[in-house]
Amino acid sequence: MKVAMLSEHASPLAVVGGVDAGGQNVHVAALATALAERGHEVVVYTRRDAPDLPQRTPLCPGVTVEHLAAGPAAAVLKDELLPYLPALADELRLRLENDPPAVLHAHFWMSGVAAQWASSDLEVPVVQTFHALGTVKRRFQGRADSSPESRIASERRVARSAARVIASCTDELRELVSMGTPRERIDVIPSGVDNRHFTPDGPRAERGRLHRLLALGRLVPRKGIDDAISVLRWLPDTELVVAGGPDATALRDDPEAVRLKEWAEQQGVAERVRFIGRVPHADLPEQIRAADLVVCLPWYEPFGIVPLEAMACGVPVIGSAVGGLLDTVIDGVTGMLLPPRRPQLAAAAVRDLLDDDERRARFGAAGARRVAAQYDWSRVAQCTERSYLRAAAQRSRRPVLLRTAPRKESVG
Ligand code: UDP
Repeated sequence: MKVAMLSEHASPLAVVGGVDAGGQNVHVAALATALAERGHEVVVYTRRDAPDLPQRTPLCPGVTVEHLAAGPAAAVLKDELLPYLPALADELRLRLENDPPAVLHAHFWMSGVAAQWASSDLEVPVVQTFHALGTVKRRFQGRADSSPESRIASERRVARSAARVIASCTDELRELVSMGTPRERIDVIPSGVDNRHFTPDGPRAERGRLHRLLALGRLVPRKGIDDAISVLRWLPDTELVVAGGPDATALRDDPEAVRLKEWAEQQGVAERVRFIGRVPHADLPEQIRAADLVVCLPWYEPFGIVPLEAMACGVPVIGSAVGGLLDTVIDGVTGMLLPPRRPQLAAAAVRDLLDDDERRARFGAAGARRVAAQYDWSRVAQCTERSYLRAAAQRSRRPVLLRTAPRKESVG
């Protein structure tokens, strides 16, 4: 099957770890690769965000990345990309006309808007994965939410217009249904993990005598790294390694890293917190294996690939009972789930597991078995392929609004 994907801000070629480059980039790259391994031909379209990028470049056999000119050929924050969507849609439409795919898979809401415009009248069904929902972001971030005002309304329309919507977890399924998305058009398909790369056996980063916790991810407030730092107040024999953000050399200029370091000082634990900056994806397993536990304490989490990566390496997760973690981490079996923003409770759970080597090993082994059985990318690709086939079999039902005058209405 010929598959086109649109991932407007998240290129599968990007270096992950920065503010806008994380799970979606990893997801698009891995899903496209796994679909190609199943014999599909995949083109991933993404916005050109640097002048020297080739127009087409192979990602792996069967997957090509195409850069679309829309807005400046430079980095633009994703929350400032909306004005460039019409140009992105026009560029995409030309490609789809020349080489029509069986399905167009849009990643994130803005790709959804552009995909609907680009494919209108082309008989190409759109499959939509949101990766995050504006309603949830607004609920948790309130006025700190820098998304465009039109996001929530646009997401509703995109969800209603897509041939199929892929929810990455049960929590997102509930949100989508409450937004008015017909249940029968939603497939629940999680993200995956590369079980060939993230394995329990293999090299470990060096460490000293303290117990070690690892917090890994983009340095953004909602990831709850402050709470992971606060946990150390109750655990004097434990250190925290924070991986993510810019390269280690640029951490001192990163406002969030500076804020977190100040927080660690205020909590009196700064000497036991080490910020190592962005870690190349290829080097992550050894960092994960060196930890006794991986702490993921977000306020909310649309999916969360990091808990899967931890479990794949045989390391238990201390996580918030939110979003995707409710599906991926089995409380009391592969880790512990706690209410978000309660570091003292998280510290107690960490203590229990640090004091019980046998239980920790059991949790680790159970996590590795779970992700190998449920979350391998080949399995995720197989489920996604079924969703594509359903989409191709049913006509996309686009409301009149999206077919007629979408641009002014959404961009203005
Ligand atoms: N990541 C990485 N290096 C870093 C920080 C993060 O490779 O320094 C990867 C991490 O391994 C995971 C992804 O970025 O695959 C983050 O995905 P997740 O779904 O956990 O969070 P999101 O970024 O989508 O909020």
